[in-house]
Amino acid sequence: MHDLTVAELAQGLASGQFSSVEIAQAFLARINTLDEQFNSFITVDEDATLAAARLADERRSKGTADALTGIPIAHKDIFCTEGMRTSCGSKMLDNFIPPYDATVIARFNAVGAVTLGKTNMDEFAMGSSNESSYYGAVRNPWDVTRVPGGSSGGSAAAVAAMLAPAATGTDTGGSIRQPAALCGITGLKPTYGRVSRLGMIAFASSLDQGGPMARSALDCAMLLNAMAGHDPKDSTSSAMPVEDYCAQLNTPLQGLRIGLPKEYFGDGLEATTGQRVQNALDELQALGATLVEVSLPHSQLTVPTYYVIAPAEASTNLSRFDGVRYGHRCAAPVDLHDLYTRTREEGFGDEVKRRILVGTYALSAGYYDAYYKKAQQVRRLIKEDFMQCFDSVDLIAGPTTPGPAFALGEKSNDPVSMYLEDVYTLAVNLAGLPALSMPAGLVGGLPVGIQLIGPHFAESRLLNVAHQFQQHTDWHRHTPEGTTGAIK
Ligand code: GLN
Repeated sequence: MHDLTVAELAQGLASGQFSSVEIAQAFLARINTLDEQFNSFITVDEDATLAAARLADERRSKGTADALTGIPIAHKDIFCTEGMRTSCGSKMLDNFIPPYDATVIARFNAVGAVTLGKTNMDEFAMGSSNESSYYGAVRNPWDVTRVPGGSSGGSAAAVAAMLAPAATGTDTGGSIRQPAALCGITGLKPTYGRVSRLGMIAFASSLDQGGPMARSALDCAMLLNAMAGHDPKDSTSSAMPVEDYCAQLNTPLQGLRIGLPKEYFGDGLEATTGQRVQNALDELQALGATLVEVSLPHSQLTVPTYYVIAPAEASTNLSRFDGVRYGHRCAAPVDLHDLYTRTREEGFGDEVKRRILVGTYALSAGYYDAYYKKAQQVRRLIKEDFMQCFDSVDLIAGPTTPGPAFALGEKSNDPVSMYLEDVYTLAVNLAGLPALSMPAGLVGGLPVGIQLIGPHFAESRLLNVAHQFQQHTDWHRHTPEGTTGAIK
């Protein structure tokens, strides 16, 4: 049962082939026996999961089941879950039990989905390898000596290892798409404001966005149907009406214009990965799409721009962790200053401290104009590059990452090379656009992804293109069990 997609599980539930309790038991058993190798979950509460599954079965027997009723979903440990620890991958929140559900969680609960547990992540979602978690690194199910990508690496690994049929993630600069690519699954970062950020622990508020991670575009569409929509409690959430994201999936691709930014296919892209992306593009062309070269001239500025803006916002967001309101508090503080400094010294890991220092520096009186304001001006230029492209193409495609998963430890002492891992994903967040990564092929037995970027609120279009691709190819059907056999 564990190798079924969300859509297949939903069908089996509807036809009475199995119950929600049986599905939950199957996935809990896999987590119990297999997750030691991957470390993809931080918290699992079997009783709560089985109780939710029983409720889902009751709901179905009353005839009021929704599409996701009884489907187990793993949630990134950045989403607040009432009564269940929400650590954000940090010692700072190791003891934090939220008094309320994030809107995303509440929406899944409302349709009767079953929370399977909370997944491991880079501390406060800062990272591209899932090595900065207080709970230890996550290992890639395709090769456990390699990273799964980050920061939603626990979610990606859990789905790839089939410990969960689907998961939630968040993406501030690539954290849904990059781990999706490195773990061989499909992940969608929606338009900024499409999914509520209420109860999603803030990293960089103008960039953060939650989204689905699953084994197919269809599954992502089903999850997005539950997640998307205006939230009166999140003033940045969009009032734009939501679509049925499953409704457009079968639109043929004839006439679709896909722009290929020349900056995304140059130096820095590993040759074999580039070839896999090219093969996927050829397939899209065979399905009726036209490929056009475009340019995003400010691409080389995205990494420095993001790594000023994201730390600046992080430094203000993380000031709330002071030992007074929630989370870790140092022992026996002698005065208030001691309480603040020791709590933060003990509670935060190195990468988080690095970001707070960079961000505080960039926002300080003497440097604000030179760094933060300048970065915001460049951000506008980056966004305008995309807008100009979308005058002549329907979507943009390119690689998700420069290469396949790298070895654990390979980049952990070199933050700049780690930051360059995000070179193709960051601009999307700076521009607030939706983007999807899906499996494009294997490089040395490891998955790589192709990224599709759309205009604001074009989630349906991205999902349609990905679904059409997946109807005609089987890269998304490859699993670590079927290739390297990492899962024993
Ligand atoms: N890798 C990027 C960073 O470390 C993006 C992280 C994210 O999207 N949460 O900031």
